[in-house]
Amino acid sequence: MSLSQDAITKILKTLEGRYPRAGTALTHKNPFEMLIATILSAQCTDKRVNTVTQVLFKKCRTPHDFVRLGKGNLERSIKTCGLYHTKAKNIVAACRMILNDYEGQVPQGREALMKLPGVGRKTANVVLSNAFGIPAIAVDTHVFRVSHRLGLVKARNPEETEKQLMEVIPRRQWSRAHHWLIHHGRALCHARKPNCLECPVRQWCQDFNERFPIKKSPGSIAQPGA
Ligand code: SF4
Repeated sequence: MSLSQDAITKILKTLEGRYPRAGTALTHKNPFEMLIATILSAQCTDKRVNTVTQVLFKKCRTPHDFVRLGKGNLERSIKTCGLYHTKAKNIVAACRMILNDYEGQVPQGREALMKLPGVGRKTANVVLSNAFGIPAIAVDTHVFRVSHRLGLVKARNPEETEKQLMEVIPRRQWSRAHHWLIHHGRALCHARKPNCLECPVRQWCQDFNERFPIKKSPGSIAQPGA
């Protein structure tokens, strides 16, 4: 059984109340820094990326600076972020393309962003929403897991998940809902052991209600193990 639009509205409102200041934790001053930080954040914590970029962005402020720095030096600067060979190669190549094809500016369209080396759909959506304020839903592991558990979507992959989320969430909430779902995944709806007892949206959560199907008297909230 799929969630009613009313239940979806209540879930979103509740998550908004729970995570009112949810936003990107990646430190950035402009779209270019957001792009570099997002590429670095693959399989790395935001905290680690911020530590690295705090130093890196002092010596490299523009695409030209990164090209001049070169792959080898960049690898040394970003080593602690992991996957540093690939990330350095992609960042230098992306900077070259931004200089050659986009007059040194980060492009504002998803298609153009996705042409940049190291930029997939998720990264493009993160940059669109956080750097340019264009509504988008980036589906990472938290968004995928939480939206499926809640019953917001039933999809086989991130792209289908994104499409289905865009259908059930109002456009004006896309970017913020993405952050609410990430924060909820980090705070309570953990991959291995979700903390359902503390969860403010459990009464609408499909996964919770399937795991703990109990008879509910009107107005009551399900209790696990009851
Ligand atoms: S009730 Fe549990 S599974 Fe459902 S969203 Fe909350 S923490 Fe996740």
